[in-house]
Order: sequence, then C-alpha cells, then structure tokens
Amino acid sequence: MITRFAPSLTGYLHLGHVLHMLYVWGIARKTGAKILCRIEDHDLSRARPEYETAILENMEWLGFEPNLGISVKSARKPSEFRQSDNAGYYESVLQTLHKKGLIYGCECSRKQILGNQAEEGELCYSGICADKGLPLASNTVRFRIPQEEVVFADLKLGEQHQIPASQCGDFSLRDRNGQWTYQFACVCDDIRHGVDLVIRGEDILFSTARQILLFQTLGAPIPAYFHHPLICGSDGKKLSKRQRSESISLLRENGATAAQLIGQALFQSALAPNPSPVSAAEAIEKYII
Ligand SMILES: [Zn+2]
Repeated sequence: MITRFAPSLTGYLHLGHVLHMLYVWGIARKTGAKILCRIEDHDLSRARPEYETAILENMEWLGFEPNLGISVKSARKPSEFRQSDNAGYYESVLQTLHKKGLIYGCECSRKQILGNQAEEGELCYSGICADKGLPLASNTVRFRIPQEEVVFADLKLGEQHQIPASQCGDFSLRDRNGQWTYQFACVCDDIRHGVDLVIRGEDILFSTARQILLFQTLGAPIPAYFHHPLICGSDGKKLSKRQRSESISLLRENGATAAQLIGQALFQSALAPNPSPVSAAEAIEKYII
C-alpha cells in the first residue's frame, strides 16, 4: 500500500500537521504502507516556494521521514511529486474528461453563484452554464457530476453517505485564472502515484465523495480512506489562526525540542493525558497503533 503526506506551500507546519504526521506514519507502520511526500502547490497564486525547504527540514527534525517523493535532499528540484511541475499532466487528464463530455466552461462569478444563498456554508452551483458551450480557456472549468449518493466505508468512522450534487453541485477543476483546484490535482496525483490509502483530517470529510466521483470517472481504483480527529483549541474548536500561526519553525527557534512538540500535539488532541515530551517513534507506538 502507498499513503501520502502532502503539505501545501501556504504556510509553515504547525501542531495540527504534527498530529496529522503521527497518524500518517502510525497507520503506515500498522498497515505496512509506504509514505510518499508530495508538495501541494497547485494554486500558484497562494503557494510560496520558500516554505518548502522549511517544511521538509522540520519534518525530518521531528522524526518523520518519507519513503518516496520529495525530501530534504530533493527540496526545490523539479519533481513529479510537486504539483507546480506537473501542469501538463493535469491538462492531459482534463482532456480525457473533455473527450467524454464531462466538463464545461462556466462564466459565473462567485457573487452570481452566491445569489440568494446564505453567506455561511458551502456554495452550491446550480449548473446554469452546463449547456452554454462556453470555452474552457479563461472560464472556470466544471465537472459534470452525477446526481447520485456516494457511499464509502471510512476506516475510522465507518459508513459515510454524501451527495455532492446537493452539497456543491458541479465543482470546479480549474479556475478562470488557470489554477488547478485541490480536489482535481490531488486525485490526479493519487492515481498517478498509486496511492491506495488516504489519511485526512475530519475537517475535510464532507468533501471526500467528490474525490471518489473523480476516481470512478477516470476508471481508477478508489483508495481506502481514514479520517482522523483534529487538535482543538481550549474552547473545543479547531485551532484559531493565532494558534496556527505558532509555527514549528518559530517554536523550534525559541528552543522547543521535537519531543516537546510531539507531546503537545498529543495532549492538545486529547490522545495523551499530559504534554510529556515523547519521540515520534514512541508516540506512534503508544498512542496511534
Ligand atoms: Zn456558470
């Protein structure tokens, strides 16, 4: 089996990533899966390449080394495991969907789609451009999804039921500025790299069926999914921006050890009863598997 750790280049690692790595490395250890490290910088308007070296160095410092993909040694060298180096591949997958008549151009602005919908919650696209025959270039490219319920068995949370058609409608694969979306780039990469075990945070469980629809449509096997709990702030909510901004780089600079940060991640996610320092290997053994 192959699973992956896929940091985005939109910020430094924080304690939430440490917990995620404990799950990825722990479950890989339990299942014998190999771990590949992929750099997710599909959206060039938001990604900042300078984060890459710091992320990879901090992973290694914390005790998490991947078996495949990008590591400190290959940082910032061209790679099939870095999304910004693979635009041609995404374009070829997009053309495959185009030939099947499964994508279309959409000229709607976010404001138009928002229409009467409440500001909070997800935008659900009505499909108004589905039959307009608009060009793909300089328009949002949308995936014509089936009106079906998707059922899958999460390895941690059990059977899940989702209906993307009523959650988000025909979702986008590429925006009008030519940036690939997370859902699309991520599924293309998982197919290409043979990833068959996907470990993700519970905060993005709601969107998993969209990826499954893409795997199905592209005739690829659907990976097994494991969604893990997150670190919560003291108020029980997801980490705030301020808490998230306490990056591993900064904490490290201020003298924290890797074992202390791992202990903190375990404690803040309520896996450990106290924040005692613990190495990655010990933490995995004691709290994850
Ligand atoms: Zn539209």
